Amino acid sequence: MGRFLERAPFGRVLAVGAHPDDIELGAGGLLARLVRMGARVVMAVASVPTLPEERLAEAQRAAELIGGELVMLNGIDPVRVEDLPMHQLVARLDDLIDKERPELVITHSVRDVHWDHQLVHHAAVSALRRMPCDLLAFTSTPELNAASNFLGDCFADITDTIEIKLAAVTAHASQVAKKTVDLESCRDLARALGRIGGMQYAEAYEVKRLRL
Ligand SMILES: [Zn+2]
Repeated sequence: MGRFLERAPFGRVLAVGAHPDDIELGAGGLLARLVRMGARVVMAVASVPTLPEERLAEAQRAAELIGGELVMLNGIDPVRVEDLPMHQLVARLDDLIDKERPELVITHSVRDVHWDHQLVHHAAVSALRRMPCDLLAFTSTPELNAASNFLGDCFADITDTIEIKLAAVTAHASQVAKKTVDLESCRDLARALGRIGGMQYAEAYEVKRLRL
């Protein structure tokens, strides 16, 4: 991943997550790294299920730490992804993709056990039907809730941005307080994935589309 990125840095990147904190947990390290490499990173969140103002402020702080721009695809009125019509979700993504013309999209894996995360995966793939771009998918932790033992096809070295990732995850204080997110475990996972990938800290991705 490192060699690949250095040879062909991305200018425009779109990350799509179901809820505030999903993107940071799954891809915060790589996104921070892409920002450092000069990419414009947009972090699109499909829904805020609870505590709208608090969670919006947390997501804004996290995006700021990463250096990305936060976009709430369906406003901040509490809604579950499952209650959003799929055509609406795809239409909102269509508009954003038309505007941003991303070269790389990063979203949930369809292997994620959360149905709402799977729905966002399908919406993102559908919205990319006319957009040639690379596509990576992450299994949102905690902790790799994969429906299989599949970790991913590639590892992104996040050694230089692990602290930014952890700070961005920490920004979701409501989730840390609820223990939905465990910071120590988040670091441990990145370390374990790094051991597998041959680097200090890593995130794992499923390669859905890659233009070499
Ligand atoms: Zn989620």
